[in-house]
Amino acid sequence: MKSIFDEIKDARTIGIAGHVRPDGDCVGSCLALYHYLKGNLPGNFVIDLYLETVPDKFQIIGGTNLIKQANTEGIIYDLFISLDSSSLDRLGFAQEYFDNARRTMNIDHHISNTNFALVNHVEEKASSACEVLFGLIEEEKIDLTIAKALYLGIIHDTGVFKHSNTSQKTMNIAGTLIAKGVPFSQMIDETFYLKSYIQNQILGRCLLESMLIMDGKCIVSSVNRKILDFYNAVPADLDGIIDQLRITQGIEVAILLYETDFHEYKVSMRANGMADVRKIAAYFGGGGHIKAAGCTMHGTLHDVVNNLTVHIEHQLS
Ligand code: AMP
Ligand code: MN
Ligand code: MN
Repeated sequence: MKSIFDEIKDARTIGIAGHVRPDGDCVGSCLALYHYLKGNLPGNFVIDLYLETVPDKFQIIGGTNLIKQANTEGIIYDLFISLDSSSLDRLGFAQEYFDNARRTMNIDHHISNTNFALVNHVEEKASSACEVLFGLIEEEKIDLTIAKALYLGIIHDTGVFKHSNTSQKTMNIAGTLIAKGVPFSQMIDETFYLKSYIQNQILGRCLLESMLIMDGKCIVSSVNRKILDFYNAVPADLDGIIDQLRITQGIEVAILLYETDFHEYKVSMRANGMADVRKIAAYFGGGGHIKAAGCTMHGTLHDVVNNLTVHIEHQLS
């Protein structure tokens, strides 16, 4: 695929969705594509965007109020486009609209992508879905709203240009977006570093209760439902905790677990050196990238940690 317009063909109704618990890249890529299509296709085209509840801090890019949470009109889309999702089930409630669509497209950057659409455009080396999308749209047609959305995705998936997925191309794209007027300092501060008091308290607790295991090569922390309820917190309030765990000296793998249900944990993993956490996540039915991956696991906290560390030990030995 060279341009997103090559694949629109005769589609007049287009649905867009990203993955469950939307992060900056998911929200950014979906809104960038939504605004791009809205701005460049005639008014009689139907373009709908579906996402789970988006964290308030992402309102800075504009248009989050246009996101739908259900297909109330019962439309069967001519074309449905998935962004930043490695597999079909990651689309959550929107999977149904994807399944029912006449044609489907998958735009992503996960090495674990299962190529689940009719047209699959997956660039494993790209920092973010936003970087992939940038390559499929016309630079002159990127207005400030689209630029902000793309910039959001790039800064979030690269940890503000510090992860190993950051390339010269990533920086060039970011430069182009800055030239379009993106308020980059404000966006980095307000969407990436800014923490509410409660978020800081949960972060503090996680650091305080973290454990070093495997001779200090691995750090584990967890958040149970009681804590989330106590602080009236949502999973997005845990953003950034795993990154703080990862930069602990001597760590090869950082693990953050949060309890999503009784004996059910969402696992986030980050690797520093040799470990490939995508492989471990994939073994347990999840996915992601070599240095950042996740999955959902069942059992007690001890079961989950034990099952994960067997794999980590095996990789590091
Ligand atoms: P997280 O730890 O949730 O920030 O996720 C790190 C990376 O792994 C992201 O690229 C996610 O898209 C991916 N990921 C997380 N959880 C899953 C999952 N259950 N299945 C597939 N990929 C996942
Ligand atoms: Mn994502
Ligand atoms: Mn991404």
